[in-house]
Amino acid sequence: MKDCIFCKIINRELPASFIYEDETCMAFLDIHPITEGHALVIPKHHQERFTQLNNEVAGHLFKVAHKILNAIEDSEIKSEGANLFLSDGTVAGQEVMHSHLHIAPTFKGDGQRVGFSHSDPEMFPRKRLDEIATKISKFINEQS
Ligand code: 5GP
Ligand code: ZN
Repeated sequence: MKDCIFCKIINRELPASFIYEDETCMAFLDIHPITEGHALVIPKHHQERFTQLNNEVAGHLFKVAHKILNAIEDSEIKSEGANLFLSDGTVAGQEVMHSHLHIAPTFKGDGQRVGFSHSDPEMFPRKRLDEIATKISKFINEQS
């Protein structure tokens, strides 16, 4: 896509520090890393949303993330664990509208924490959780 930063990186029109590339995806370091090794895994074919990727490509991003995290752990980069995170859609905080999976090594004292504000447990008794689970699961087989 013409005005997409990540498509420009794929086409080598913009620089990046590359880690990995195959037919489907590529990975490079985030330009503003939260820790050393913070990388982005992206599909080569432009899609704004993770939910627009086909099931194989979506799965492949995670396989590559797994490979890279193992490489980071084998390297000299400080890593005692990692956070994988993905913002799908502007409302979820996605800023670059070419779907991407963040992988960020973590270690004790790195000063970074990815987390949720959990709801009050009383808001979601088992009955409500079961109803929500049913609403989702009945559509699972209809998705690509
Ligand atoms: P988002 O908030 O969309 O999940 O994250 C976008 C990420 O892309 C940010 O962490 C930001 O630092 C990174 N980013 C934005 N522009 C560039 C760029 O030109 N090159 C690289 N390597 N990363 C970028
Ligand atoms: Zn793009």
